[in-house]
Amino acid sequence: MIGLEVHAQLDTQSKLFCPCPVEFGAEPNTNVCPVCLGLPGSLPVLNVGALRLAIIAALVLNCKVNKTSIFARKNYFYPDLPKGYQISQYEKPLAEGGWLKLQESTVRIKRLHIEEDAGKNIHFGDETLVDLNRAGAPLIEIVTEPDINSASMAREFLENLREILRYAGVSKADMEKGQLRCDINISIRPKGNQKLGTRVEIKNVNSFRFVQKAIEFEFQRQLEVIKSGGEIVQETRLFDPESGMTLSMREKEESHDYRYFPEPDLLPIVLDSEFIAKLEKSIPELPHQRFERLVNLGLEEKLAQILTQNKDLGDYFFKCLELFNEPKTVANWVVNELLGALKDSSLNLTESPVSPEALADLLKSLKDGKLSVRLAKEALKLAVQNNEEPMKIVQKLGLSQLSDEGEIKSLIEEVIKEHPQEVLRYKNGEDKLFGFLVGQVMKKTKGKANPQAVNKLLKEMLN
Ligand code: ADP
Ligand code: MG
Ligand code: ZN
Repeated sequence: MIGLEVHAQLDTQSKLFCPCPVEFGAEPNTNVCPVCLGLPGSLPVLNVGALRLAIIAALVLNCKVNKTSIFARKNYFYPDLPKGYQISQYEKPLAEGGWLKLQESTVRIKRLHIEEDAGKNIHFGDETLVDLNRAGAPLIEIVTEPDINSASMAREFLENLREILRYAGVSKADMEKGQLRCDINISIRPKGNQKLGTRVEIKNVNSFRFVQKAIEFEFQRQLEVIKSGGEIVQETRLFDPESGMTLSMREKEESHDYRYFPEPDLLPIVLDSEFIAKLEKSIPELPHQRFERLVNLGLEEKLAQILTQNKDLGDYFFKCLELFNEPKTVANWVVNELLGALKDSSLNLTESPVSPEALADLLKSLKDGKLSVRLAKEALKLAVQNNEEPMKIVQKLGLSQLSDEGEIKSLIEEVIKEHPQEVLRYKNGEDKLFGFLVGQVMKKTKGKANPQAVNKLLKEMLN
């Protein structure tokens, strides 16, 4: 049984309770002020932009948004928490009782609340330095019910969650930047047992792969403890990526250890239905809606899935489609040819030198018969390698296909003159020699002639 507690950083410009910028990778301790440094006498003011995004997150996760919710102080001591407490929500969270659908199951969401991030401790040898740029950054915490029952399901949940938060504009949800982090609660119990086993919490796992590995390891560990007659201790553990093991960190703290109490410096959040309805209307297209739109265009589910899972790629596809309205062709070229060419050059989509407009141009030329499929693929590949537009490559290298009938005809005449024997044998019924003659013509054009045109003209001229 697995329940996840996921932290997602809200995509705002400023922090949750002060105007300091939220900026990944900034010089340490430059984006700070008395509020996020926790200096005495400073007062927090709620960032309404963060509140809006948190409500949108609650709505897209099908949660019930509470009309009144309150902030709470969660008290603990740590060097990256200068106030000595974190402003979070406890008794009355922003939202409760939602769900997220997966391929074959549904994970219930227990609660979703707003809280501020802490700073970061950076360890150098036996010294520790503190960077408070992240202190006060806006987060939502999403807590699931223990509905997840495998490492791969945990991964599927997180991938779907990340996509939906990105589509909704709630969070960039980039795990590498710590914008999406996850605590894993895991317990085991005999098949058929209703009562949950004692759980262990694995803190702050920051990649999909590590989530999977941590769960796989911890499941085996607990299994072995039980099999050998031991008992699981409720505790907090850490995942160590190097050994692939989880290590005991401390006994699990109980919520009463935090001495939660209502935050006296902030008013309750009181929402009216109109405010929520307005936000609901502003929600952009979500993954399942995009998937349906793609399938309705006639795309295979596999292609539609790829274009849904990668939002940037899907956006690229639709831009290209506006200029060249053949969904299947565009999808195939974007997913197979363009991604393939980018991969060969170790580039990702955002670094692609081929704009949707440029790809549409290429596809138009292909359709008009100015290019063969082979040449078009070649042009795309070279374009990516040389950081240029495919049609420029076509012009430069003279790749474009010969479709001028006059020119092809004169080449056919040459071939007929050069191969009188073969022509005679063909006329006497050796059909297979037709292919040979086509081949000779194509050779003269260096493969640039439109094969259909060659076939047609050669047949006419031989008869
Ligand atoms: P706490 O307040 O101590 O963090 P919660 O009841 O809020 O505890 O649960 C935190 C997370 O742990 C939730 O995702 C929940 O689903 C999960 N969880 C609770 N009990 C168990 C259990 N016995 N086994 C697995 N997960 C559990
Ligand atoms: Mg918890
Ligand atoms: Zn600040």
